[in-house]
Amino acid sequence: MANKLSLLGAYGHPDDEQGVSGLMYKYANAGVNVTLVCATRGEVGEIAPGVNATPQTLGQVREEELRCAAEKIGIANLYFLDYRDSGMIGTPENADPRCLWQANLMEVVEKLVRLVRRHQPQVMLTFDPNGGYGHPDHIKIHQAAMIAYFVAGDVRIFPEQIAREGLRAWTPLKLYWGAFPRSRWQKYAEMAVQAGIEMPEPMREFLKRGMPDEVITTRVDVAEFVDLKVNALACHASQMNPDSIFAKIPPEIRKEGLKEETLVRAESRVAPIEEIENDLFAGIDG
Ligand SMILES: [Zn+2]
Repeated sequence: MANKLSLLGAYGHPDDEQGVSGLMYKYANAGVNVTLVCATRGEVGEIAPGVNATPQTLGQVREEELRCAAEKIGIANLYFLDYRDSGMIGTPENADPRCLWQANLMEVVEKLVRLVRRHQPQVMLTFDPNGGYGHPDHIKIHQAAMIAYFVAGDVRIFPEQIAREGLRAWTPLKLYWGAFPRSRWQKYAEMAVQAGIEMPEPMREFLKRGMPDEVITTRVDVAEFVDLKVNALACHASQMNPDSIFAKIPPEIRKEGLKEETLVRAESRVAPIEEIENDLFAGIDG
């Protein structure tokens, strides 16, 4: 399988993949081998009403939900790194020794490097340095993915993976951060106001955190996969709170925002071809 195209996303929780589910489906359909690494099972999140889960079983439930979504999206390889969800910043869960936030960063890197060497992605995806909105697990997996991007191709790093596990050093060519442009948040906010939806204070705060539009380098058209995205997202039933602001946005309006997936080309070992790309593999030969 020489020169096979491969894409690897490193994220924190089940449902984090939704920002890139359209492009993952698009590339999987085009024959790209798609790998999703999920560091935790989201076991600390709130449980949507009516869902058959307890705090004790939530991790298992969310694992199944992600397996359901991954199958719909066409993800060929799904891995959990088996850390515990660290919870929102400032909560006692941040101190749990089993959680990702407390993990030795290089231990996380080693796990990611093993998967990079195994699946040999030309393109990696992860969160931006602030993890989208500051979630500790998003920040930590961002850090680990960045280091893995730089070291996976170096035979001196984790040499036992090469000596004993039969893996080869592998150098990915590009790394992207998912990015939700500020203008799209603002559009959502305007549409919510028009629809008569009251914007709660945490949501107002959230609106300020979008990526400035100028830093977006990559826009992938996934308009034809919007229904697929919504379908895959529906697998995450335990996270579908009917009281959330998202649930209240009319479906037609939400769908409008799902037609394009936007990213920042944070690292690249190939020269950019266009100022604004529409293909993550631009500049990479299959
Ligand atoms: Zn998350």
